[in-house]
Amino acid sequence: MLGNLGNPLKIAVIGSGPSGFYAAEALLKANIDVRVDMFDRLPTPYGLVRGGVAPDHQKIKSVIMVYDKVAALPAFRFFGNVKLGQDIQVDDLSKFYHMIVYAVGNETDRKLGISGEDIHGSYSATSFVGWYNSHPDYRNEQFDLSCERVAVVGIGNVAMDVTRILAEDPEKLATTDIAGYALDALRKSKVKEIYLLGRRGPAQAAFSPAEIHEIGELENADLVLDPKEAELDEVSKGEVLDINAKKNVEYLREHALKGEGSKSKKVRLRLCVSPVEILGKDGKITAVKLEKNKLVRDQKGSIAALGTGVFETISVDMVFRSVGYRGVPIAGVPFDQKSGRIPNVEGRVTDIQTKQPILGHYVVGWAKRGPSGLIGTNRADSQATVKNMLADIASVSETPLIPSSSKDVAPWLKDKDVQFVSFQDWKSLDKIELERGKANGKIREKFSRVSDMLSSVNQETPVL
Ligand code: NAP
Repeated sequence: MLGNLGNPLKIAVIGSGPSGFYAAEALLKANIDVRVDMFDRLPTPYGLVRGGVAPDHQKIKSVIMVYDKVAALPAFRFFGNVKLGQDIQVDDLSKFYHMIVYAVGNETDRKLGISGEDIHGSYSATSFVGWYNSHPDYRNEQFDLSCERVAVVGIGNVAMDVTRILAEDPEKLATTDIAGYALDALRKSKVKEIYLLGRRGPAQAAFSPAEIHEIGELENADLVLDPKEAELDEVSKGEVLDINAKKNVEYLREHALKGEGSKSKKVRLRLCVSPVEILGKDGKITAVKLEKNKLVRDQKGSIAALGTGVFETISVDMVFRSVGYRGVPIAGVPFDQKSGRIPNVEGRVTDIQTKQPILGHYVVGWAKRGPSGLIGTNRADSQATVKNMLADIASVSETPLIPSSSKDVAPWLKDKDVQFVSFQDWKSLDKIELERGKANGKIREKFSRVSDMLSSVNQETPVL
């Protein structure tokens, strides 16, 4: 039977972020004979832990040690710089693997859908985060930080990261793994006022208590909010708040009483306001028009923001949308346009028409449930999908797609001239990054161009 000693279950995991590694971990810990090949479109592993977590949150990145332990297991291989839908297709994978796990995350951002969103100076938080984290996709982005006033739309933890990076003393980032070019730009930054715009009230804020505390404790910036906006509205007063919401409400109420403060920069948190238009002149942003909201209970019983018809305009030169991420479709993989996710039932990918599970195809992480939760949330989520994969082994082994054990993806990729990067190769890049960082007094100086990564990979190293 498939999975018994000598008859290994072969699995392809697409994506090497937290959800991919936790799926690999759960599979490799299962009591079966299994081989896991992990693919990533970048030569580097770790997904958002490398390209998303803020440089001043190094402790969060220590989770990489767990992933490295998984990668060190003999039944695990990494194939970096291999893009599904481009270098290899789903049909090709099906020749080599019994099961495919999509751990592809959410690679784009949600739009606001308001007028002016495309004016120069309106950016997605995702691009700014990728830029300061040396992500090759965003390496060539240009952010004009010579302006003084910025609006950040949305008050989730990504908005907190963006705000902190803009408001923090750049010297505090100087020893981290922030991109060198981003540090240079931040050192020259003139930004001194950041409007954080939340469409609902303090009890519905998406930031974690620790994240808003960090904003409140910034050395160079005061967190300022109107005590009236920090108060609970009538609808929220009737709610039983969870522990985080309670902490946020209390913190904001107390903090609002501190007033303007005397620090050189201001983070102005506004609540119950929605941007309705981004205004510009001569192709540049000049202001954001906001509508005051009141909170109402919607048909599902959730607390929603409803415009009141009362408007105001705040002058800003730059806008960051930080209203959540969204998946992008991959050729050959079902995709639900409405939710931006891979359709699934408890991790089993389903056909978009029939809604029936497609045997052998699974999904984990944000691609499965949407962009929510912290890194650790993905462990239980991936384990749940793996449980279903293990339950499906008997059915998979009966399908005609059983690959011949002599076939392997590595020579196939070589034949196609795909320059894949093994985990050992990545470790040689890792070493170079650490050495370059040391020379600059930093934790790490990341590569930010795929071409540089590939040319630096020691080609003499045995790849597998
Ligand atoms: P998020 O937590 O979902 O926050 C999105 C924010 O955008 C919410 O405030 C939301 O308001 C607002 N929003 C959505 N649509 C809007 C619209 N049309 N107009 C105005 N506001 C709108 O998303 P995120 O910040 O991108 O974070 C994604 C996940 O990563 C979260 O689970 C987060 O905790 C996690 N993360 C964690 C860390 C960390 O631990 N340090 C760092 C970064 C990210 P509503 O609530 O009203 O919808």
